Amino acid sequence: MKLKVTWLIVISVIAFIALSVIQGYLIYNTYTLKRNAFIQNTRSEILNIDYNKHLDSIVDTWEETLKNQIADYKNKRTTKQIVLNKLRQKADSLNSNYYNLYKEELAHKDLGYAVSYKKNIESIVIFDKENDTIFPLAEQTNFKLFGNDFQNSKANSVSVSRTFSQYDYIDQTENKINTQHYNLEIKFKDLMYIKDKNSIVFKQMLGLLIGSLFLFVVMLGLFYYSLKSLMAQKKISAVKTDFINNITHELKTPLATLGIATKSLKNQQILSKPETLQNSLAIIDRQNERIQKLIDQVMTNSLKAQHLKLALKNVEIIPFLNHIVEDFKLSVEAKPLQIAIAFNHQEKELKIDPFYFSTAIFNLLDNAVKYSKEKAKIKITTDYNNNCFFLVIKDEGIGIPKKEQQHLFEKFYRVSSSNLQANQGLGLGLYYTQQIILAHQGTIKVKSEKSKGSTFTIKIPKIQ
Ligand code: ATP
Ligand code: MG
Repeated sequence: MKLKVTWLIVISVIAFIALSVIQGYLIYNTYTLKRNAFIQNTRSEILNIDYNKHLDSIVDTWEETLKNQIADYKNKRTTKQIVLNKLRQKADSLNSNYYNLYKEELAHKDLGYAVSYKKNIESIVIFDKENDTIFPLAEQTNFKLFGNDFQNSKANSVSVSRTFSQYDYIDQTENKINTQHYNLEIKFKDLMYIKDKNSIVFKQMLGLLIGSLFLFVVMLGLFYYSLKSLMAQKKISAVKTDFINNITHELKTPLATLGIATKSLKNQQILSKPETLQNSLAIIDRQNERIQKLIDQVMTNSLKAQHLKLALKNVEIIPFLNHIVEDFKLSVEAKPLQIAIAFNHQEKELKIDPFYFSTAIFNLLDNAVKYSKEKAKIKITTDYNNNCFFLVIKDEGIGIPKKEQQHLFEKFYRVSSSNLQANQGLGLGLYYTQQIILAHQGTIKVKSEKSKGSTFTIKIPKIQ
């Protein structure tokens, strides 16, 4: 049974984690798809921009400069580096014209979000007798022709294009003038950068995200609730088994004694002797009383605070406690007992139900003796603070491990390491004690360390 439940929990946890991972993966996939679709849409809008003659003519003006520079370069009047510098200067001077026109065209599209744009040069190559690359050159690999400045790595590509044209130049290098042809290849790359793309896509997915988060929380809640009920069921069944074992154990001795005593009544020899007959009847009576007491204990000690009908009255607290201690000392025979007392005489009276309150203190004293080794050493202290009465019962017994302390006041709970064979009980004493204290609007707390001893503190507010 125990193994089955453990497996059930393990499988449920794994299934839950797997489900969460799958859901996370699906959401991420949807996000990626939506993001790509969004980028694709923006790209199509930009590609649809009408490259009217104004835009084209600005590129043509720049190419005119390129042509002139190439003529100078071919006549060895300049270097590639200078050609590139001149081309950049020209691009800079034309940039605002080009970009403003571009922006105007983009505004017609009415996208509803900002898109930065630029036109880059990928390469400029002269083809004549041999190929001569003007750009890229050494470390110069980035050439923004027109548009905004932004990092290429953050951008999305819009399009790549290539022009291949034939041009002439006048060659003056060999003291005679002749016209030379060459082919010029220019590769362009248009890029765009949508600053808010992640948040735009995120907003588009908000409904889906909230929905799945809500479902996730509901699922987590249901999962937690089921696990909790399962654990509670498991605990209840363990407690029930313990209780049945304990009560059978408690009933065994008186029933066995009763059996022997009734058997002896059948014996003629005993029947003929009045003293032995009396003796057997006394045993039967005592055992009967013991069984009756045990059943009463289960019935009454299981009551809840709200079912206890308190008969509150002002009790002179010091004599009341002294009485309980005296009575208790008389009832203990099993081991040597030493009780130290430190009472605070500040106040005389406390409003309590003397019957129930003495039962609560008796239960605590009984435990202090039961869960001490050879000798029981107890200290009882009273105090007043913040309009409350405090009663502290401290023992030097076997103590209670930390993790068990939270369960002490539960019905039928017994600490498994408390040598339960030697110390019989039903696990009801502390439950009943707490219910009595709660009925008095008070609290009971425990502080304990294994092998060092335990301290139980009762706090009762002084009701005027
Ligand atoms: P009964 O119903 O007869 O009182 P019980 O003594 O086992 O049975 P509780 O008085 O409710 O039940 O105590 C619950 C458990 O708490 C005990 O079984 C014991 O393990 C632990 N315990 C209680 N008081 C002490 C103490 N003073 N020192 C160490 N362990 C204690
Ligand atoms: Mg007890």
